[in-house]
Amino acid sequence: MLVVAGTTLKHLVPRVWDVESTHYLPQLQAIMVSYADFIRTPSHRRRAMDQGIRAYLGVPDHVKVYLDNGAFYFIGRHDQVPHDEYDEFVSLAKPDWWPIPQDFIPVATLTVAQQYECFSKTMAANLAYSHESHTPVIHISNYLHAYTAAVLANQHLAAKPGIALGGIVPNLLRRPKALSHQDILDSLLHVREEFAGKQLHVFGIGGTATAHIAALLGIDSADSSGWRNRAARGIVQLPGSGDRSVANLGSWRGRAPSNDEWERLAACQCPACKLGGLEGLQAGGSAGFCNRATHNLWTLLNEVEEIQTHLADNTYPDWYATHLDNTIYLPLIKRLVNTRLQSEPEADCVDPVA
Ligand SMILES: [Zn+2]
Repeated sequence: MLVVAGTTLKHLVPRVWDVESTHYLPQLQAIMVSYADFIRTPSHRRRAMDQGIRAYLGVPDHVKVYLDNGAFYFIGRHDQVPHDEYDEFVSLAKPDWWPIPQDFIPVATLTVAQQYECFSKTMAANLAYSHESHTPVIHISNYLHAYTAAVLANQHLAAKPGIALGGIVPNLLRRPKALSHQDILDSLLHVREEFAGKQLHVFGIGGTATAHIAALLGIDSADSSGWRNRAARGIVQLPGSGDRSVANLGSWRGRAPSNDEWERLAACQCPACKLGGLEGLQAGGSAGFCNRATHNLWTLLNEVEEIQTHLADNTYPDWYATHLDNTIYLPLIKRLVNTRLQSEPEADCVDPVA
């Protein structure tokens, strides 16, 4: 699974993709920027179109640049994204991956009628771009099955190499009308099954525990800004563990690391910790933010690498139970592991003598 690191033009550090940066992460293979940032600052938009988005951001050839259409930014706003301007940007800035110009996220606070409107408008945009290279977008919502049916009913959409799935983050925010974790998992399983063989991108996965779910589901790529959001709140992540608060920033208080966890952090081999140690992780200001963000992304990339190694050599079922802390996602992970075990061919049944 490709981890796509979300970043923002407003604060383009740490430059984890930049070989010249002390925060460079060689394992990183993709980043994502939002078109909303380019709308907010037209000079950025112009320069990215003049130079190409890769040169403009200083991204090396081995790192892919994903463009997000900024749909999350447009929730609750009435502005429309001018489609021709978005298309002009895509054709000149040349990102490696881009979705339809606008999709309408059915946040959990909307009524069923409003969610239907989001579905209709997003599906209309998918159909309008069915002949283009834009990736269609569908959402986890009450209308997910209607989405998959509508996409598969159109021969051009059905023939697209990839599809993007959004709407997970608003449901994970635990609003009263949000879908349960079980419903979200059922939705993900439905999409993976209906679009078997397609490149499936998931918008917005959180930390290390949700990365396990995404990898178990066979999702091809997923973007996350959690490495930055957590860093901004003074939080670092540990392999297989939840969030730990290491820097005292403002009113937010989280769980502090245990003595054993401090020791693990002190021994961390990420570029930020190797250079600045625990002091660097706990620092304030932009320096502390960059250290924590680099550490968090390095941890996520390593976690995914480890998950994939264990899945490939069939040691995952024994490994995850001892590796993962008691995350709220553990029951979902258990269910996915059992589903995988049941669907595997029974190689042991072959009689070596026969
Ligand atoms: Zn570290």
